Amino acid sequence: MTMRFDILTLFPDFFSGPLDYGILSRAIATDTVQVALHDLRDFTHDRHRTVDDRPFGGGEGMVLKPQPIFECIELLESRSTMYSTNNEINQIDISKYESNNSITGIAPKSTRDTTRQSVILLSAQGKPFTQTTAHRLATLDRVVLICGRYEGVDERVSDLLADQELSIGDYVLSGGELAAAVVLDATARLLPGVLGHADSSRYESFGAPDEECHDPANAITSDGVPRSTHGAGGILDYPHYTRPADFRGAPIPDILANGDHLAIRRWRRQAALAKTLRNRPDLLAHAPLTSDDRAYLATLGYFAASPNS
Ligand code: SAM
Repeated sequence: MTMRFDILTLFPDFFSGPLDYGILSRAIATDTVQVALHDLRDFTHDRHRTVDDRPFGGGEGMVLKPQPIFECIELLESRSTMYSTNNEINQIDISKYESNNSITGIAPKSTRDTTRQSVILLSAQGKPFTQTTAHRLATLDRVVLICGRYEGVDERVSDLLADQELSIGDYVLSGGELAAAVVLDATARLLPGVLGHADSSRYESFGAPDEECHDPANAITSDGVPRSTHGAGGILDYPHYTRPADFRGAPIPDILANGDHLAIRRWRRQAALAKTLRNRPDLLAHAPLTSDDRAYLATLGYFAASPNS
């Protein structure tokens, strides 16, 4: 099954880096992921290929016009006229898409099945993009990412075209391209077969709560020790070490070299809890903690007045 991303942008070349390396480029090469870049200037009708205009009501800066974005999405509604820009990065064979009925056209917002496809506007005003969002997007067939520029995008794009606005953090970027690359990368690596080992995306920082993504039975191993991070409802990953065992006088923790896997799992669990307490204590308030976890956190001075504590 191929997951399809369409990115609407003023700067298609921007994506030559993010798409060309590592896991993402392999996922594209194996057709697990398809990415089509759409240059919004191709949907303008004037000599200057104008995509922006002054804001109604006055104020600084320019606003991205709705018309090129609407026309691009309307083209994506038709599977038989699948469009993609003809540039080197994209390398998409348009004829393949013209005859490829497995790619479903983007439905108009009023009839769109948002369990299959989503049109997303990248925006500093959007809902936070999290690992849980990435897991949810990874279940879809098709995602359209609209990259804003200037002071932002005419609000009618959000109202009439997009299903959701997503923000990658509480800061303002100069354009939505970096945000789109982040959403694409974080989502694509969760697709089956993209990472070498399925567990890699299960036992890592922010592992999604079990009820949303995974089998709760995996949260606690048969010997009663919680998995290091996944199943904890989203605490941070434990610290990793590799060879040499002693690097410039800094040794690895002894326990990692003694072959006692139960003890290693316990140590990793506690190290993950300690790191989460140090860097992201907010996550602990929502993590389903065992009584051992709470006892350990108490030794570190943590006492949260949360339902889980
Ligand atoms: N005037 C807007 C505001 O104050 O919210 C900022 C516009 S920003 C300069 C231009 C574009 O960058 C936005 O339309 C959006 O697509 C993108 N952008 C900026 N910050 C972002 C963020 N944190 N997450 C996602 N996209 C962002």
